[in-house]
Formats: sequence, structure tokens, C-alpha cells
Amino acid sequence: MALIGEETMEQLRNLIKAVNDKDAERKEDQLLQYMELVLERNQHVNLTAITDRDEFIRKHYIESLAAAALPEFQAAETVIDLGTGGGFPGVPLAIVFPEKQFTLVDSLNKRIRIIQEFCETLGIRNVTAIHGRAEDLGQQEDLRESFEACVSRAVADMRVLAEYCLPFVKVGGAFIAYKSSDCSEELQGAKRAIGLLGGGACRLASAESEEHLLVVIPKDKPTPKQYPRRAGTPGKKPL
Ligand code: SAH
Repeated sequence: MALIGEETMEQLRNLIKAVNDKDAERKEDQLLQYMELVLERNQHVNLTAITDRDEFIRKHYIESLAAAALPEFQAAETVIDLGTGGGFPGVPLAIVFPEKQFTLVDSLNKRIRIIQEFCETLGIRNVTAIHGRAEDLGQQEDLRESFEACVSRAVADMRVLAEYCLPFVKVGGAFIAYKSSDCSEELQGAKRAIGLLGGGACRLASAESEEHLLVVIPKDKPTPKQYPRRAGTPGKKPL
């Protein structure tokens, strides 16, 4: 396909093969088709700031798939993506791991409806997209502590993000945050919050690029009932 560097395509192809080889060609096709749908709709609805295909593949696909290398992700059968936006990292992970169940959450209903429509068009059957705020959904019995893994990219500072995400994770599961490589101060500042929410010691794992890394937080204990607090409170008064 024009406009995509051969090197980038090769990297994507190799990554798919390395992490979940089965039906690799079909997965590659679905990823390319999803990109075209997003770029087309992006002219009317803001789904991503990226318009260049090569960059789209690197930032939205190769970067999103970084979690696939983690044992915590591999072990999870159910995964929630909090603040998925245009479907990242949730949709590429769902395409490459059709045997896992993905729940994608965003507070903007327009984006959720578009993701549902695109998944239907492409025959992606392992994605459920839910409209709502983390603070409300995290108190919902059918979602709370119901997922073996939670992933989230570019949604909030770790102190706030931990309160959005950890309540969804089952004890024994993990929260995987996509962060920039210089997040050590941010993590230091979030230690107390993570502990209050039932999270354990953070582990840093390399992502597919040098500017990013993955922060893996095990869910050691149940999250106390009072968290997440009311919508808006985590952002205004971070733990
Ligand atoms: N994860 C995507 C999008 C990042 S933009 C990516 O990396 O490309 C952040 C998204 O989080 C937005 O779509 C916004 O609507 C959503 N969001 C922010 N706060 C939220 C909350 N409290 N609950 C649910 N979604 C939220």
C-alpha cells in the first residue's frame, strides 16, 4: 500500500508474528482497514491527531502492541482499555488477540459509537465498547474487579489514572499503563495512591520505542469501596 514505508510494515508484520502468529495476514488486513476507517472518519470527528499512515502504524499499532510481550497481558483473558479514544491500545490488541475479550471505555459517546460501528464492519467480535466515566463504571458491580488486565494510554497522570483503572482489575491481575520514559517522578508521586487502591510495587517494562515504557502494577488487594470517588473528584483532588 502506498504511503506506508516498507520498514514500518515489516516491523508490524514481524510483531504480529512474534506475539500471536495465527491468521497473521487476516490480522494485518484488519489493522490496515481499521486505520483507513479511522482516517476517513477523522475528517469529521476527532479520533486521532495523527494523519500520516506510517506514523499511525508506529504510534497506534506498534506502540499499542507493546503490552503483548508482558506475561501479565498474556495471562489475561479479559482486558479493559480505559479512555480508549479512537480505540488505542484496545482495538489493535483485540485484532491481534481474538481469543481474549476486550472492553473499551470512553466518556465520549461519539467515539464509542464509532468504535462499535467499525468493529461491526470489520467483523471484530471480541470488543465491547462502553460509554461512561471511569469513576461511575468502576463502582458498577458487573465491571468492578472483573478484568484480569487493564490497559490505558494518554489518559491522566498516574495518581489520577490509578483511581480510574485499579478498581476494574481482579486481585491477582495487573494494570498496565503506557507512559513516557521520563515518568519516574510521576510514579514516585503516585506510590501512595496506588497502595491505597490495592496496587503493589510497580515494574517498568520496555515498550516498542525508546520514548515510552510500560508501567505494570499488580493488583494485590481489593480496592476499598470508597474508590473510585465521584466523577470529577479524582482529577480535582488526586489521592
Ligand atoms: N487512549 C487513546 C486516547 C487518549 S485521549 C490513545 O492513546 O490514543 C484520552 C481519552 O480518555 C479521551 O478519549 C477521553 O474522552 C477519555 N477519558 C478521559 N477521562 C476519562 C474518564 N474519567 N473516564 C473515561 N474516559 C475518559
